[in-house]
Order: sequence, then structure tokens, then C-alpha cells
Amino acid sequence: MHTFSLSHANTLSNAWRLALARARWLVVLVLLAACQPAEPAPLPTLARLPSVTPQPTPTHTVTPQPTPTREILPAQFSFGKSAGGLELQAFRVGTGERLLMVVGGVHAGYEANTIQLVRRLYDHALANPQELPDALTLLFVPVLNVDGIAAGRDARGRLNANGVDLNRNWGCGWSAEAYFGEKRVNSGSAPFSEPETLALGGLIERVRPSAVLFYHAAARGVFAGNCGGMVSQPLAEVYGRAIGYPYDSAFSKYAVTGTAPAWVDSLGIPAADVELASAEGFDFVGHWRALRAVMAWLDEN
Ligand SMILES: [Zn+2]
Repeated sequence: MHTFSLSHANTLSNAWRLALARARWLVVLVLLAACQPAEPAPLPTLARLPSVTPQPTPTHTVTPQPTPTREILPAQFSFGKSAGGLELQAFRVGTGERLLMVVGGVHAGYEANTIQLVRRLYDHALANPQELPDALTLLFVPVLNVDGIAAGRDARGRLNANGVDLNRNWGCGWSAEAYFGEKRVNSGSAPFSEPETLALGGLIERVRPSAVLFYHAAARGVFAGNCGGMVSQPLAEVYGRAIGYPYDSAFSKYAVTGTAPAWVDSLGIPAADVELASAEGFDFVGHWRALRAVMAWLDEN
């Protein structure tokens, strides 16, 4: 089900409109440059610009380049419903070609501080768009396990309304026998049996993010997704270095199966679990710094 489709024609015409707007600006800039007084000596940086050479060929410089552009997602949209019938919501900041997805509340319950953190990161990004590289879009999903919120800070809050652990229900290494520590948890009847994992997996396949971060609490570390994609370790390293968390080992406290970052890694998309240092509160400054480090990394690569 597509709850937010824009027509292809619309996207194309938007791209051309953007290209034409850029072209108009270039013409204005050329005219402005031509209007500069001859004295004093021209600025060396201006002199190096091709647009102020004696025989300008503006038609070349203003030719629109119809490069493929990312469909601009709505600023806020629902991408599905939980097992308990609650809306799953996403929030966008920026319109850049590369997309970084940030997911909180994969487990609610005792990990509900990850929901507060992701909401705070979103609020900050929305209020300070100048801190985002132009080439980046941020897409926040503050809470995946919306059903778990109702249970409060309780072990039941880890699971959705079907009693399934949403970080054991993904399509890489899924097992009917799954654990949270030494305790057996329900991993669902099959990979993607749950509406939340199916909806988020579908959204990821559709928007093709450049990286995905999933927030948990509270093992204090960054754990790269690993499903043979072998693309996620650099992401874990960038985030881990920026916040000062361990990042160079797989989650080894106990065997985990069917996790979200593993499945995303299998798509060739870097993904990692960020485990907060505590299940109480959060270090906003540190996590925003780490998110900016990831954005800079994506911008450079
Ligand atoms: Zn968790």
C-alpha cells in the first residue's frame, strides 16, 4: 500500500523546474559579475570563474542537467500500522539525494528512552537544518514498536501486540528459536510475519537509504549489521568513534537471530544497532555529534 506516492511526471517536472531555477540564477550571477566595476583590481577568485571570461558561452554553463533526483518524501507520513492497529510514522528533514534513516523504539518498554532520543534528534534537525549537508535527507522513525509503549517501562513493552520481539523477526538468519539473553522470545511465525517489520522493511526497500541506525538500550556500544553484506562496519566505526562507544566487535553477549541491521546489511546498505549507555535518559549532545559524523561520512563517500 502506498500512502505517499508522487507521480513520476511531477517529479520530472520538479527536476526541470529546479534546473531552470538554477539556470536563471546562473544568468543573474553572470550579469552581476559583468556589472562589477573595473577598478580596483578584480578579485582573483572572480577572475578564475569561467562565467567572467571575455567570450562567455552561457548556453553551455546553463544547460539543465536532468540528473536523477530523489523523490521528496512528505515531511511526515504514516508507512503502515502495528499489530495493535497503531500508526507507524516517519518524519523527514532535508531534501538531499542521500538518505540516512534513524529508527528508535525497536523495543519500547525498558528501552523507551531511545524513543525520546530519536524525537529529540528530529526536533533538533528540524530546527537546525543548516547543520545538515545539502546532499543529505534525514528520515526519522521515532518508534517502531508503538504497541509496546502502552505497556510502559515493563518487559512486556519489548514486544508488539502479538507478543513478538521485533528485532528477531527480520529476513537474515531468522530462527523460530530466538533469545533475549537467556530467555526465549517469540520471533514470529516467519520472517516479516509482523506488520511493523514488513512495513519498515518495505519502506527501506522503497527509499533505499544510504545507511540505517537502530537505537537500543543499554549495552553501550555500536554493533554493525552483518549478513554477508560486509558493508556496515565503517558505519559502526564512524558513530562509535564520535560518541566514544566500543564499535569493533559483533554483539556477543548471546546469539541473536533475525535482527534488523543484519537484514539491511544483506541489501548492501550499511546498518548498525546503537546501544545507549543507560536505559535512563540519553546523551543528546554525544548522539547528535555522532549523527553529524555519519552525515559527513555519507557526504564524503
Ligand atoms: Zn533493544
